[in-house]
Amino acid sequence: MILISACLLGVNCKYNGKNNLKYDILELAKGKNIIPVCPEQLGGLPTPRIPCEIIHSTGEVIDGCGKVLNKRGEDKTEEFLKGAYETLHIAKLYNVKEVILKENSPSCGSNFVYDGTFSGKKKRGDGVTSALLKKHGIIVHNEDNYHIKGGTKDEEKNNSRNLHANNGD
Ligand code: SF4
Repeated sequence: MILISACLLGVNCKYNGKNNLKYDILELAKGKNIIPVCPEQLGGLPTPRIPCEIIHSTGEVIDGCGKVLNKRGEDKTEEFLKGAYETLHIAKLYNVKEVILKENSPSCGSNFVYDGTFSGKKKRGDGVTSALLKKHGIIVHNEDNYHIKGGTKDEEKNNSRNLHANNGD
């Protein structure tokens, strides 16, 4: 069982009402037990919504000190934390050990996130959901470095991607 950012599978849950469909992720998902999840929707945010970025570090958000603000400066930390804990709850319910989450997102990013200035710049760090899942021992892949266990050797080979952590989008 693998949990995947719903936007990577073509679900229109992105902040602008669109998606981040990746055809190789869609192909990987076919015939497998997958759970599409959008933490920001699970946190109660609408779609479309005003984009958010993490102010301070992700660790501080999880520990209750940092904040997630939208572009208007409104505090959405509570919604991001709720989405993260809902995602963790689902992962535990289904005994999920690995996830594929969309890089750079303030929820789903697992190597880089936008830096909080809404200028398109990124910084190293995890999104709120990725940070929480990692803290609970769940392996977080992004759309470019996934390697899913449990398939045949050929499937595993086909599903492998080298980690190019700083490839941006
Ligand atoms: Fe995609 Fe995650 Fe953003 Fe939802 S929160 S739109 S799943 S990147």
